[in-house]
Amino acid sequence: MRRVLILGGTAEARALAAELADIPSVHVVSSLAGRVTNPRLPVGEVRAGGFGGPDGLATWLAAERIDAVVDATHPFAARMTASAAEASVRTGVPLLVLRRPGWPQGPDDTWQRVSSLEAAATRLAEAATARLAIAKPVELAEPAEGTAQPTGPVRVFLTTGRRSLPVFSGLAGVWLLARSVDPPEPPVPPHVHVLLDRGPYTVEGELALIREHRLDVLVTKDSGGQLTAAKLVAARELGLPVIMVDRPPLPTGVRLVETVNAAALWAQG
Ligand code: NAP
Repeated sequence: MRRVLILGGTAEARALAAELADIPSVHVVSSLAGRVTNPRLPVGEVRAGGFGGPDGLATWLAAERIDAVVDATHPFAARMTASAAEASVRTGVPLLVLRRPGWPQGPDDTWQRVSSLEAAATRLAEAATARLAIAKPVELAEPAEGTAQPTGPVRVFLTTGRRSLPVFSGLAGVWLLARSVDPPEPPVPPHVHVLLDRGPYTVEGELALIREHRLDVLVTKDSGGQLTAAKLVAARELGLPVIMVDRPPLPTGVRLVETVNAAALWAQG
C-alpha cells in the first residue's frame, strides 16, 4: 500500500483525495491547517493542525511511513510549501507541488500587479492621499473624458483574507468591504465592513455587490481557479481597477504540476 500525504485546504486537494480514493493500492491522508471553523472536508482520512515546522513534518512523515507528499495547499500558503520542500529534502520522501495556474490578464482588464500585500496597501494609500488632497488624483484608472472626479474615501473591495486585514485597516481615506470565510480578529474599525461568505461566487452577485457598495477598486491575490474568478469578470465589466498581489515564489527545485490528473498519476508512483 502506497501512503500519500496531501497537504490541503483547497478544492484541488479535495479533488485529488477523491480521485485517489478509488485506487486500491493508495492510502491517502489529507492534512488541513485547522484554522477554518467549518472546513470543507476531503473524503478519506483527515488530520488537522500544524506539524511544527520542517522538523515536525519530517518526524511525522517517518512515523506515518509516508511514501509521497503532494503539496496542494493554496498558492499563498508559502510557509507550508517551504516546510514541505525542506522536509522532503531531509527525509528523501518525494514531493510534488500541485498549483492551479494564476489568473490570466485580458486586454480589457485594468490590473496593477504588486509583489506583496504591503505594496498593495501602499498603492491604496497613494490613491487615498491624492483624493483627499483634491489635487489631480493619481487615479487607479484614468477616468473617462468629462466624468466627475470621485470624492470621499477610496472604497475598496478587499478579498485577500481575514488575516491580511491589519495591513489595510489602518489606512487613512480608505473604506473597506472585507470579504472572508471566517470573521477577522476584533476589534474591527468602523470604516471596515466585514462580509462573511465563501465561494463559489457568480458574476451577477459580484456585479451587485460592487454596485451596492459603490466600490472603487478591488484588491485581491492571484489565487487562480474558477471558484473566486467572478469578481474579476465583474471588475472588467464595470471598468473597476484591480490591484493584484502576485504569488510568492516556489522554493527552488520543487517539481510542479497544474492539474489534479497529473498529480493523481504521480501520486500512484
Ligand atoms: P502558511 O502560512 O503557509 O502556513 C502556516 C502554518 O500553518 C504552516 O507552517 C503549518 O504549520 C500550518 N499549515 C498550513 N497548511 C497546512 C496544512 N495543509 N496541513 C497542516 N498544517 C498546515 O498557510 P496559510 O496561508 O496560513 O494557509 C493555511 C491553510 O489554508 C493552508 O492549508 C491553505 O491551503 C489554506 N488556504 C490558504 C489561503 C491563503 O490565502 N493563504 C486561502 C485558502 C486556503 P507548521 O509549521 O506547524 O507545520
